Amino acid sequence: MNKLLPTSTAGSLPKPSWLAQPETLWSPWKLQGDELVEGKQDALRLSLQEQQQAGIDIVGDGEQSRQHFVTTFIEHLSGVDFTQRETVRIRNRYDANVPTVVGDVSRQKPVFVDDAKFLRKHTTQPIKWALPGPMTMIDTLYDGHYKSREKLAWEFAKILNQEAKELEAVGVDIIQFDEPAFNVFFDEVNDWGIATLERALEGLKCETAVHICYGYGIKANTEWKKTLGSEWRQYEEIFPKLQQSNIDIISLECHNSRVPMELLELIRGKKVMVGAIDVATNTIETPEEVANTLRKALQFVDADKLCPCTNCGMAPLPRQVALGKLKALSAGADIVRKELAR
Ligand code: ZN
Repeated sequence: MNKLLPTSTAGSLPKPSWLAQPETLWSPWKLQGDELVEGKQDALRLSLQEQQQAGIDIVGDGEQSRQHFVTTFIEHLSGVDFTQRETVRIRNRYDANVPTVVGDVSRQKPVFVDDAKFLRKHTTQPIKWALPGPMTMIDTLYDGHYKSREKLAWEFAKILNQEAKELEAVGVDIIQFDEPAFNVFFDEVNDWGIATLERALEGLKCETAVHICYGYGIKANTEWKKTLGSEWRQYEEIFPKLQQSNIDIISLECHNSRVPMELLELIRGKKVMVGAIDVATNTIETPEEVANTLRKALQFVDADKLCPCTNCGMAPLPRQVALGKLKALSAGADIVRKELAR
């Protein structure tokens, strides 16, 4: 798109309270059967409208049809048993009861393609679709079959590539892979994490993005952040290799974060979705605060490569807070856009 500083979101947005319990991760659906199908579509339409009214340029589905950004995708695959659950430590941070890989994993049918088609039908704006990345997927499962994180990641990369190609075919403009695990397992990221990501986007002609963050504003994450010290330099471990990768866009957490902004210099040349909205607080940023973060980022990202964005998904936030934050993002981007036009 030709507009300078096109705004976007990391992905998830709060769901209406008639669809799922608000402010809850893995919130159970309140509808069933055909009503649920219809309810998800209604919510998707609403979410699109809210993004449009807030002035967001690159829109998404707000992840209205998924319970969780990783598990919903996995639920649609064969080879994973959701009744057989084990407790594992996710991203070295918190314990979760997760399903078990019991056989060869495969995708029998498309997962999100109908939803993407539905979104495409309702807007002419560029759309971005988020999928979990291979490394984050394996980190949210117990593997009783392959017994190798790397092997399972390559299998998931193949499956993600099938899904991504079909999303591209129905008109998705940007396919984003969510890889918060990239911020934790640096050796694996450099050994095979980025390679499996490139396998997932192989052959795509649309733009591709990777989202790497410090997570939702949930307690386990905010507690973890407290242990990271005064400077968060995690990105430094993986940026050199990401800069060399085939990925077009890198989506990052920046606002209210202790990530030193100069680390962005390490990915110079890539498009950057700069997180200018904190998802770990209900306080709505002022447009000037957003503008300030964007100005700092502009020291290290060329203006034609900067997309103002949220730090992470906003699913767990109160709906009005998320809406206020979207508006602040647009208004903040607008301030900087005017400055750049001078
Ligand atoms: Zn995130």
